[in-house]
Amino acid sequence: MSIAGPGYRVARNADLATRNTFGVSARTPLLVEVDDAAALPQLFADGVVDIADPALLVLGGGSNVLFAGDAPGPVLSFTAQNVESGEGDGDTVVVRAGAGVPWHAFVMHTLSLGLCGLENLALIPGTVGAAPIQNIGAYGVEVREHVHAVEAFDRRENRMRRLAPAQCAFAYRDSVFKHDPARFMVTAVEFALSRRPRLRLDYAGIGGELATMGISDPRASDVAEAVIRIRRRKLPDPARVGNAGSFFKNPIVAAAQAEALLSAHPALPVFPVAAFPADAAAHGQAGGTLRKLSAAWLIDACGWKGQRDGDAGVSPDHALVLVNHGAASGARLLGLARRIAASVHERFGVALEPEPRIVGAGW
Ligand SMILES: Cc1cc2nc3c(=O)[nH]c(=O)nc-3n(C[C@H](O)[C@H](O)[C@H](O)COP(=O)(O)OP(=O)(O)OC[C@H]3O[C@@H](n4cnc5c(N)ncnc54)[C@H](O)[C@@H]3O)c2cc1C
Repeated sequence: MSIAGPGYRVARNADLATRNTFGVSARTPLLVEVDDAAALPQLFADGVVDIADPALLVLGGGSNVLFAGDAPGPVLSFTAQNVESGEGDGDTVVVRAGAGVPWHAFVMHTLSLGLCGLENLALIPGTVGAAPIQNIGAYGVEVREHVHAVEAFDRRENRMRRLAPAQCAFAYRDSVFKHDPARFMVTAVEFALSRRPRLRLDYAGIGGELATMGISDPRASDVAEAVIRIRRRKLPDPARVGNAGSFFKNPIVAAAQAEALLSAHPALPVFPVAAFPADAAAHGQAGGTLRKLSAAWLIDACGWKGQRDGDAGVSPDHALVLVNHGAASGARLLGLARRIAASVHERFGVALEPEPRIVGAGW
């Protein structure tokens, strides 16, 4: 059964299987599709959804969630597809996009306007509204570098807010939104983009790919094309095999622990961590003393690559990517993830944290 109010539509007992890229079965008692974020105060005032319900889940493209069971509460999704470009100030142009805009289409749109900044983040699945939640990043760039402001409905204060980047507490795959999911619903994001290219070509094969493409003086759109080609080769397409990209974050540890691990395992990839205050605070360390370890290497070293438990598996190509080979349940995928983390902890003393939000169970 469906009902509708001004700016939103509601369906009861809705199926979420096609709304998560793992493709696992899950249902929600109430699916609310919000076409106009201005309808939110009325939606809460009408009691369609309880503003304080801790089980209320905002869902974008479902590419960073694992439904370990049914959603315990209502699911709300933003559909607005509006994109507006501002006048700009010299070199910089502010572009605002509604939460429901598909991320990759948005990146390509900004490039078609001659604006640079998001090219390394091409082909990441999902929506604009979810981009700030885990501060999406790829190929040496994080979205926080280009966020001008985040517009969000604050459920605690029952009002719209416009948060400056400093208020978002961005860190590696982290933000205030991820820490407090029952508070903020992102309704739109403003990005500060540049008319003048400042390309980042030094990361993970971009230069080599451009050379293969025969391009020596690349434009931002060429960098996006190189990233797209690399990603298409390397990452499983969720349309063919269910997955949520990297299932685990690269663990951040104290430098002393990284050095001890490195002397025992010289092949372990260890990276310096940029001294962003929120990263340092999250780990109770001064920024300079932290190191990032390769979660993929740790998992591979424990022999998990290509392993299966029924239809739940670890990609044979990427130790970091859990896959649904067909009819795996979310609970089975979660069980596999927990066993992987336990074995890495037992062998290396390193705690792995999942990157996707786990719904319907704890970690
Ligand atoms: C093949 C593949 C490759 C990927 N590669 C990368 C990568 O390179 N880098 C990277 O960072 N991520 C990557 N991801 C993960 C994922 O694409 C991103 O995290 C993306 O931003 C999730 O967007 P979504 O709309 O699907 O969010 P969802 O999965 O729907 O939601 C993710 C989280 O954000 C919350 N959320 C979503 N929208 C809102 C909103 N409007 N307001 C408040 N909370 C919200 C949800 O409640 C949930 O906690 C990859 C995933 C896949 C499947």
